[in-house]
Amino acid sequence: MTKNKIFVNMPYLPSIKSAKNLKNKTVLVRCDFDVPIDNTQNSNSNTQKKKIKIKDDSRLKTCIPTIEYLLKKQVKQIILIGHLGRPKGQIVPELSLAPVAEHLEKLLNSSFCHSRESGNPVADKLNINFIKNVDNLNKEILKQVQDDKKLVMIENLRFNPGEEKNDKNFAKQLASLADIYINESFANSHRNSASVAIIKKYLPSYAGLNLEAEMKNLTAVLQKPKKPFVAIIGGAKIETKLPVINQFLKTANYVLVGGAVANDFLLAQGKEVGESLVDKDYIDEAKKILKKLRNKEIEKLRDKKNKIKNYRLQITDYGLLLPTDFIWHKNKILDIGPKTIKKYCAIIKSAKTIVWNGPMGYFEDKKFAKGTNEIAKAILNSKAQAVIGGGETGESIKSKVKNQKSKQKKNIFISTGGGAMLEFLGGEKLPGLKK
Ligand code: ADP
Ligand code: MG
Repeated sequence: MTKNKIFVNMPYLPSIKSAKNLKNKTVLVRCDFDVPIDNTQNSNSNTQKKKIKIKDDSRLKTCIPTIEYLLKKQVKQIILIGHLGRPKGQIVPELSLAPVAEHLEKLLNSSFCHSRESGNPVADKLNINFIKNVDNLNKEILKQVQDDKKLVMIENLRFNPGEEKNDKNFAKQLASLADIYINESFANSHRNSASVAIIKKYLPSYAGLNLEAEMKNLTAVLQKPKKPFVAIIGGAKIETKLPVINQFLKTANYVLVGGAVANDFLLAQGKEVGESLVDKDYIDEAKKILKKLRNKEIEKLRDKKNKIKNYRLQITDYGLLLPTDFIWHKNKILDIGPKTIKKYCAIIKSAKTIVWNGPMGYFEDKKFAKGTNEIAKAILNSKAQAVIGGGETGESIKSKVKNQKSKQKKNIFISTGGGAMLEFLGGEKLPGLKK
């Protein structure tokens, strides 16, 4: 109940479950089709048609519950939209959504098979009708699709330059196809794109079921985390991590920093990092964070004792923890060391709320994956409410956690967002989630 209350108070998109008359409506659903693909295999043959392989379809699966929901509500038609890769407003055949349509069709039909077997049929066999153009969209183009018109997918929206420009005319074209809009693409909700941002001006808009779950789980962590609250931030893209570190320093008891992100802080403290990966543009920002924490701590001590007695401040006093030992390789820090692992894991064990984003080291190489794996293990063994998210690099960790999760625990929420999750938890209002 309390969770719902927090959620309702925010000016977010209402849940699709609150939409009253869905029967016979045409619904436009913005999905996350940006799956990792492998198109290297046929690069040596120009004559053969390229067969694109989807390496991981977990993102595709997130739209299935919403599609099933809409079919049960007897909508007239579902128009699925999304993007793949970065074609930058040009038609790039390798980034066509056609293989995604084919794959999603299979996923949907096998999912519906299950519901048929359980005596609760959602629909008979469904086809996804693919529309190849993303220019001059209007109701006429829907006439291209024949026979079973229930499900339609439109080609990669980013083939049209209007998508990434948040162009209102492009959004209006998309809106003209339907009666209702649903955002079911949390991972894109931090982007100012036509199909997630401005489109909401032109149609009654709702949150899809997965998007709703994302907002509920992340809002709970953002607003009412049970203490002790521990945030673990690693990875490499420091510009996306610093705002979140700042945010968590206000709400979390501990912020454990690892990965290349930690290197910037170490450098800011004047420590030796050799030739490790650092982002020099952000050293000053890291310095600022450290200084702010130091001042805050001095204030606290003043309050307590009315004077500062020769007190040597430790980094742990600020709530921000940096690694103290490392695995070096060729003059580079590539993982956190055993002492740091031990300390971080002990803190994780004491937590009631955990947020984790970004690996602790260069985990793609097994030799430097120990820090990341041990953190994952500690989270799996903890009883805390945990939220885990990240970009593509986090996928392998996420799937490991997912496998174990299904066996033993329900208290881990795996966010489909990377940048979107970080911005949301950093306290930003994401353009795709606003009402
Ligand atoms: P995420 O995708 O989980 O949000 P990032 O994209 O920020 O995380 O960073 C992930 C990448 O960071 C991984 O490819 C990993 O190898 C790299 N990385 C983490 N720590 C280090 C390090 N110490 N040195 C080099 N690369 C690192
Ligand atoms: Mg990444």
